[in-house]
Amino acid sequence: MLTLLLRSWSALGCLLVLSLPPISRQEERGKLLLVSFDGFRWDYIHRVPTPHFDAIMREGVQVDRVVNSYITKTLPNHYTLVTGLHAESHGIVANEMFDPHLNRSFSMDGQSAYESRWWEEAVPLWVTNQRAGRRSGAAMWPGSDVEIRGAYPTHYLPYNASVPFQSRVAQLLSWFAGPDPIDFGVLYWEEPDESGHNLGPESPLLDVVIADIDDKLGFLRDQLKWAGLYDDVNLIVTSDHGMTQLSSVKIIELDSYVGRDKYTWVDKSPVVGIIPKEGCFDEVYNSLLNANPNLYVYKREDIPDHYHYRHNDRIMPILLEAREGWTIVQNKTKKMMLGNHGYNNTLPSMHPVFVARGPAFRSNYVKDTMHSVDLYPLMCHILGVPPMPNNGSLANVQDLLKEGPPVGPARVPAPPPAPTHTPAPTPRPLAPSKPREPSYAWVVGLLLGTALVVIFLFVFVKQVTLKQVPTLPLGNREISQPLLYEELRL
Ligand SMILES: [Zn+2]
Repeated sequence: MLTLLLRSWSALGCLLVLSLPPISRQEERGKLLLVSFDGFRWDYIHRVPTPHFDAIMREGVQVDRVVNSYITKTLPNHYTLVTGLHAESHGIVANEMFDPHLNRSFSMDGQSAYESRWWEEAVPLWVTNQRAGRRSGAAMWPGSDVEIRGAYPTHYLPYNASVPFQSRVAQLLSWFAGPDPIDFGVLYWEEPDESGHNLGPESPLLDVVIADIDDKLGFLRDQLKWAGLYDDVNLIVTSDHGMTQLSSVKIIELDSYVGRDKYTWVDKSPVVGIIPKEGCFDEVYNSLLNANPNLYVYKREDIPDHYHYRHNDRIMPILLEAREGWTIVQNKTKKMMLGNHGYNNTLPSMHPVFVARGPAFRSNYVKDTMHSVDLYPLMCHILGVPPMPNNGSLANVQDLLKEGPPVGPARVPAPPPAPTHTPAPTPRPLAPSKPREPSYAWVVGLLLGTALVVIFLFVFVKQVTLKQVPTLPLGNREISQPLLYEELRL
């Protein structure tokens, strides 16, 4: 029944898109669609053929290294993408939080995620876009179904993980091509994050998931073309973070170092907030400080500057961060995940993919590095919307734009070198190139080849049969068949 329902959604979605009228180019001015595939690590595009990512890179730009925001988790980074602010400034500092002023807890999976006050330390781009007299549409982007600063996106889908990708795309494109079209759209998809956690990024099974994401991107490209939007809408495809492999022996058990009655635990590995009980701060801190070489322990005021993760009361008085690949637990009781993220944002394994194309972007251009906070001013520029104060800089990413400063000759996109730290994700060599895009030449070739083989076999068998029964009269040829079979069996 569920499958049937999902198919109905897809079918409805496709119908919606196919029935859209093409829109006039004259109406176009800085349209933008921002897509996030949760947990799509930067190097996934180098381990299996990804023809649709490749096409966008050829037609547009690619950034090899996107330094995202600390902590490298889903909500903080999705909010960074649409605000240009580090987590300490936009206030969504983790997927699970405690606010001492509100005396309330927040969980991304709970009802608290719909409370405006958690999100209102910043203004997301869809609100700013609307304040500038334009229109926005959001398909499941984290926070987009919450009222923030008195506004929702002009159109949005309430979060529902069971809504298929195709339906989300169809809905978004109907908003882009409708009678009062949106200028800015955001689209979120849960994979490959979920599979990355369950399988681990080093699992060959994840290759199938990555190939499926590329197919989904192909669907999005096709639908944009069907709706007459492909040449007019700037398309940015990125993610919130990467993923690293875990190990069942790389476990840090806090119970070995400090009693649970001494502190409250906030959020989940690999970055955990600790609120020491009254009068226990020094005891908790000193017990953990040198407890395990794979555990970094910071007082809030000592958190490294480059994390930009200190100036917010939702950051707990003590912060624990695991070394890459390690897991922090109180004790080993729960089933382990095989992949995780959240670690130091300078680790290559934590970095997301980034490709973009459209009328605003250069073509066939590869940039070495950008910071995810720089995306917000870039998007504001494309949309023609005045940016809110932010931590990014348009100057850092202006070379991605067609109108940007002159750049050297375009570099052919190539797999970047393997990261040097351990245990780094190892980019796998490209599998033999075999485009999965439909190819009529290939199908015709296959049919012709099959036909030739069949004809050859027919002629061959016929000749052998005739040789084996030279004395039989033609009219009795069928009598020879059992004899022939007997001989062949020998
Ligand atoms: Zn995740």
